[in-house]
Amino acid sequence: MLKGLSVMKAPLPDLRRRLLLKGLAGLGLGVAPLSAWAGAGVQRLRMSVDGQTTRLVFDMEGPADYEIFTLESPDRVVVDLSGAQALGPLDVVSNPRSLVQGVRHAQRNGTDLRVVLDLRAASEPHSFVLLPAQGSPHRLVLDLTERPNVVSAARAAPEPPRNSAAPRSSEPLRDVIVAIDPGHGGHDPGALGPNGTREKDVVLDIARRLAARIEQEPGMRPVLIRTGDYFLPLRERINRARAAQADVFLSIHADAIHDRSVQGSSVYILSERGASSEAARFLAQRENSADLRLGGVPIESKDDSLTSVLLDLAQSGSLEASHSLASRLISEMHRVGKVRKPEVERANFAVLRSPDVPSVLIEAAFISNPSEERKLRTASFQNSLSDAILTGLRAYFATHAPPGTMIAEGRRDRHVIRPGESLSVIAERYSMSVAELRAVNQLPNDRIFAGQVLEIPPRGG
Ligand SMILES: [Zn+2]
Repeated sequence: MLKGLSVMKAPLPDLRRRLLLKGLAGLGLGVAPLSAWAGAGVQRLRMSVDGQTTRLVFDMEGPADYEIFTLESPDRVVVDLSGAQALGPLDVVSNPRSLVQGVRHAQRNGTDLRVVLDLRAASEPHSFVLLPAQGSPHRLVLDLTERPNVVSAARAAPEPPRNSAAPRSSEPLRDVIVAIDPGHGGHDPGALGPNGTREKDVVLDIARRLAARIEQEPGMRPVLIRTGDYFLPLRERINRARAAQADVFLSIHADAIHDRSVQGSSVYILSERGASSEAARFLAQRENSADLRLGGVPIESKDDSLTSVLLDLAQSGSLEASHSLASRLISEMHRVGKVRKPEVERANFAVLRSPDVPSVLIEAAFISNPSEERKLRTASFQNSLSDAILTGLRAYFATHAPPGTMIAEGRRDRHVIRPGESLSVIAERYSMSVAELRAVNQLPNDRIFAGQVLEIPPRGG
């Protein structure tokens, strides 16, 4: 969860370690200030991670004079852009592998923009600029790599001999990552309640409460796709989830319909072959159209048939997982309020169209119904809905956590064979078949011995 906008104090000059880089973003060289360029806007900030390097790209309206320096305790990189201003939130999606754990920015002296990158470790910045090309604007590119003298001490330990299999317990296990996407935002308010409640506001509140709960959950980590009141195209929401290496994607909305008596929550998954109901089709049209209306890029490129075939294949796998996730969420949401339909609905939501991340769209109650509109604003409903979603996530990950995650490893059960036990007795004890038990443990036959350890897979599916 990274903050987009926050006011910050300018660091004291004596804390400045060294002046590392100066340049003219957009022109590539020169250090002379060019006041004529005053007013260059930073459109957005993008972050990607490649191995040890974290790359930040500032998309700029035009060139700007810039300075980069580092600060210690805590480690930060400061980028000062003269005659520049932020045109967007300038936040990035948190990524556990990134050296950057937070971004703040503020205007200085009325004319300059200061961007502060909060780092996980002392880093060496390298920068360069790119001129507009192939539809891309002026860009300032900043590459960060962990400063080697800090790492070397930790790496001085003797390496384990080659060819020796590392014990499983020494493998670093990761958290499962839950991307939470509050729908709409900025100039797209979403649906409006009869008393003026805006969908974009209540879904952000719910998303924040859910993120706070996931933050406390062992083995899970939240990533908020939208952290404030600004607009994001649907494709960008998917991209952010994928950049964060999300294991699941939850898009949170509130429903609306002309008939003000309609109530209840629903959970949708993507359907490539038509909607599960007329209402689902209508809803998908409405949620998708916001994107087209508001300057997003259409998500499909029909001319690329190979891509769409591959997408189809990959999606059928994640659709199954999406369905499991959705049905677990629905059964939990039953407990906190009306559920409009007991089964998972399918509709062609562009925001769910992520080929490799199981994705669901939650319509949390009807904002068009006066009593549900009131309820949507209350902390108690937002809390109990978040609790229900978290419980649904727990149930989903109990059977779907990817290998290498703390949850997947924690659920693994082991059975030490006692004298006299047979495979069929053990299989029965764990409600599984002998064939399954053999397959999991790669046993060529039914022969086992006392003291042997068998892995017992989690139940359910
Ligand atoms: Zn919506």
